[in-house]
Amino acid sequence: MNATDASNARNRDRRAPRLFVAQPLVRDGRPAPALTLEPQQSHYLANVLRLQEGARVLLFNGVDGEWSASVSALRRGAVTVTPQEQTRPQSRGPDLHYLFAPLKHARLDYMAQKATEMGASRLVPVITERTEARRVNLDRMLANAIEAAEQCGLLAVPEIAAGERLPAALARLEPERVLIFCDEEAPAGNPLETLAAIPRGTPLAVLVGPEGGFTDAERRLLAGMPKAARISLGPRILRADTAAVAALAVTQAAAGDWTGAPAQR
Ligand code: SAH
Repeated sequence: MNATDASNARNRDRRAPRLFVAQPLVRDGRPAPALTLEPQQSHYLANVLRLQEGARVLLFNGVDGEWSASVSALRRGAVTVTPQEQTRPQSRGPDLHYLFAPLKHARLDYMAQKATEMGASRLVPVITERTEARRVNLDRMLANAIEAAEQCGLLAVPEIAAGERLPAALARLEPERVLIFCDEEAPAGNPLETLAAIPRGTPLAVLVGPEGGFTDAERRLLAGMPKAARISLGPRILRADTAAVAALAVTQAAAGDWTGAPAQR
């Protein structure tokens, strides 16, 4: 198995539960000693999955790759697991920020999960003029991102940025980052052609607006961005959570990690 194959989530063992942990998995170049899981994870392993001592789990922490570990003690509320061997080395995924106007509850949960599965490395709630859900529960967004990362075999959980207004969020983008701006008023055209012109390895940001759409002033602000690509997602108006998945899919296919280019390191 070469490094790219080893970092591919499709090669993982699907039977073992996968858990994100905040603790180191390597210490002084050796597997870290037994670590105690959070109460919720402990409950999940002990009471929901009813694992026994010696059962195998997979752990990742965003730094040390993925590790196979065995359940070493099952105490109520505190399961300990001992890392044994690395199953995948850490690799860097795409450098892809996902900027979005927050939605309400269930749709926001869905969006955070799907954006994570699609490979976004940073989730950035932006408050636009027509954004209705102005308060974002960042802890809940992180919990959704962790759950999605555990399930889809990611080696890291996307960063969650604090919500801010659109102009501030745009000003924060690094000059080299290309902003892919999804606009239902963009002239119809194949987004893959626009996206394929972006050189491989360019840091990207995808922006999807609120259910009420962008205002003209916001469109002018976006049009004035030095590195922006305005794309259409077809002739139908998509709901924002659908637009999220569609936009990230075309971006990954044309300019991201669906292109078969080796993972960035
Ligand atoms: N205000 C609009 C709908 C906005 S849809 C209306 O009701 O007419 C929410 C967001 O999804 C938009 O801001 C845009 O970013 C994205 N979106 C939806 N459909 C799209 C399409 N066909 N092309 C590009 N972006 C789209």
